Order: sequence, then structure tokens, then C-alpha cells
Amino acid sequence: MLIDMHTHTSVFSTDSNLLPHESLARAAERGLDGVVLTEHDVIWAADRAARLAEQVGILVLPGIEVTTELGHVLVYGVTEPFPRITDSKRLRDYCDERDALMYLAHPARDPGLRVPREAMELFDGVEGLNGCDGPLQNQSASSRGRTRPLPPIGGSDSHALHEVATAATEFEARIRSLDDLMKALRSGDYRPATLPY
Ligand SMILES: [Zn+2]
Ligand SMILES: [Zn+2]
Repeated sequence: MLIDMHTHTSVFSTDSNLLPHESLARAAERGLDGVVLTEHDVIWAADRAARLAEQVGILVLPGIEVTTELGHVLVYGVTEPFPRITDSKRLRDYCDERDALMYLAHPARDPGLRVPREAMELFDGVEGLNGCDGPLQNQSASSRGRTRPLPPIGGSDSHALHEVATAATEFEARIRSLDDLMKALRSGDYRPATLPY
């Protein structure tokens, strides 16, 4: 299944002019099976995301892109309203309490924000493919107590219509819910996928 793990809309991201139904219709047309809405520091209510999913006929799940002192962090597995955490260690605690996963977003975009090696241990993985940036290879997440970090994810980071579904993550498992997505992420059985226009 192809799921775009990183998308924005004009509803909650002021840097986007993309209406949700427009974006999702284009994503469906481009062959995606699902999309995770990852607005800046705001989580879509799960029932609202589900209503959109019904309208467009693909999976629509809530996630979030959190702004921290280490840069942007994609979080999956949280559905309640986000309390605006900006400290990466506090965000890690918050995610651990909820069994949520943290991926460092577009790690190569801003060289000034390069994350120190020891801080990489906060993340479960990194975004290795970003539709706005291409392949991002300059950081690899540390182990977080495992022998290997989770594999990199891919997402479009779409803020405008022409950016929709340029990148995604290809999962082996069938995903129909946020629980399924979390299981699939933890299994590590997935890889970033480019979707050329
Ligand atoms: Zn970002
Ligand atoms: Zn983004």
C-alpha cells in the first residue's frame, strides 16, 4: 500500500493553499491508498479525517508535524488535541506515554539545524524522502534501544496541488486504520517510494 506520510492543507497550515478535498482527490487519482495529514503543531480530529476519507475513498489518518528546537518532527499515533510541546525531550516523553512514533522530518533541509548525534536517539527514524527535497541521506536515526532504527519513511510534504503525491511510503501490510499503520511502522516492513509526475 502506498501512503503519503507527510501532507499539509490550508485548514491548519498557514503556509499551504491546498484545500483538503482537492489534495485528497488528487492523491487518489495519482494512485495513493492513503494519506496522513501532518499539519504544523495541530492534529486533525479523527472523525473529521474519517469523513474526508469517506468522501474521497482513500484512507485519511491524523498525524502531526511538531516544531521543536531540533527541527520539525513527524509524529504518528496521537489522536487527541496536541498541547503544543516544542522541547524534543518532552515530546519524546509525551510520545512514549502514548506509544507514538517520532521521525525527524527533512533532516537535510537546513544545515544550520543539524541534529547532534546523541540527540538522534530521541527519534524512532527519519524522513528519508521528502517530495520537496528529494532523498535525504545526511542523518540516520540512532537505535532508541533497538539494534537498528526503523527504516526511513517517505512523504510529499505537499503544501500546493502540484506537490501532491510526489513521494510516499510503500507498506507490505494492508492498512485500514491508525492501529494498522502503527503496527506496520513498528514492523519496519516499508520503504520510501518516489512517484514521478
Ligand atoms: Zn517541515
Ligand atoms: Zn511539512
